[in-house]
Amino acid sequence: MSKLSTETVGIRYTGRAALNRDPQDDRLEFTCPHCGTVGSKPARRPHSEYHFSDGFVQDLHGEMSACRGCKRVLRIVPVVMLHDQDEKRRFKAFFATELMGSNN
Ligand SMILES: [Zn+2]
Repeated sequence: MSKLSTETVGIRYTGRAALNRDPQDDRLEFTCPHCGTVGSKPARRPHSEYHFSDGFVQDLHGEMSACRGCKRVLRIVPVVMLHDQDEKRRFKAFFATELMGSNN
């Protein structure tokens, strides 16, 4: 594990959660733990790489990206796949503590 990269959680919307976007535009979103900039990148890993864990469908291998704001390298892991608004709310509640804790 490199010290140059910081981990952050990624969200990949699919199904009903992605209705308002182009289906070809399959992206995952993440928030930079350093500066709070919200970024996105094209999702590279196939759905078959995602597995059910902790109540969500997640890719535990993650993907690498860089923050648009501070240019730091981010490791996006896990990438959580969310299918609808209900799951989105559940995810936010579940990861709230973890996301807060990673700010420092
Ligand atoms: Zn940043």
